[in-house]
Amino acid sequence: MGKLEGKAAVVTGGARGIGREIVAAFAAEGADVAVADVLPKGEAAPVLADVERAGRRGLYVRTDVSREDEVRSMVDAVLETFGRIDVLVNNAGVLSLVPLEEMPVEEWDRVLSINLRGTFLCCRFVLPHMLGRGEGRIVNVASQLGQIGAPELAHYSASKGGVIAFTKALAREVAARGVLVNAVAPGPISTGIMPLQSDGQEEALKNSLPIKRFGEVGEVAPTVVFLASADASYYVGQTLGPNGGDVML
Ligand code: NAD
Repeated sequence: MGKLEGKAAVVTGGARGIGREIVAAFAAEGADVAVADVLPKGEAAPVLADVERAGRRGLYVRTDVSREDEVRSMVDAVLETFGRIDVLVNNAGVLSLVPLEEMPVEEWDRVLSINLRGTFLCCRFVLPHMLGRGEGRIVNVASQLGQIGAPELAHYSASKGGVIAFTKALAREVAARGVLVNAVAPGPISTGIMPLQSDGQEEALKNSLPIKRFGEVGEVAPTVVFLASADASYYVGQTLGPNGGDVML
């Protein structure tokens, strides 16, 4: 029996990258999975095929997580199709490299809106349902840069630090009512989200890691499965770090 047998999950940003791997891992562990992503539906065909191959139900709801109306409709659509939401994974995120003295205010707002406001909005509209049932799991995908920061990534680092603080606050607020909230803070994972300017820059970044390589998407998803599963029943407000040893807390 899978670790998530019979559960219904929502994974934001699940059409590609780390999110796609989380969706596939959830389905392999027995969950029905709704993918909420801003990409056109056609781009979610491969991940929905992963879910079907695992014999589970998949649903795609095109959603911009920074928009309240779209998040509300997405949650309604998932509840209508699956009847419930046991697990919410807030994975949708964006990144850009911009020195602060050149950063357009609009770019700061865009990154904060998707990474932090989007996490808030999805929690805001899924929580009443979870609290009503007295159970649920929320896993927020932060980043180790929310713990240590990085140059030219002040907006991204602030958004992910915000996600970690938000996770702790919400975890304290709802744990006794049956909803467990935790986060993962990955290190550099090969997905293309990080715009590396040259092979030399990539090698230097790899060499700075204790493990001397970037992580793979399959090295993040198992941590998310764990936090969503019964195995993590005593984890509250924690931030787990699949990061190759870059950050050790
Ligand atoms: P990715 O770009 O491959 O995937 C991000 C997904 O989010 C895409 O499917 C994209 O369409 C979706 N998305 C973007 N904006 C959205 C919006 N407004 N509404 C809904 N969906 C939206 O990136 P990834 O590397 O797979 O990153 C996934 C998460 O992991 C992000 O939150 C990212 O910050 C975090 N993360 C990534 C790394 C890394 O090195 N790859 C490290 C730490 C944390």
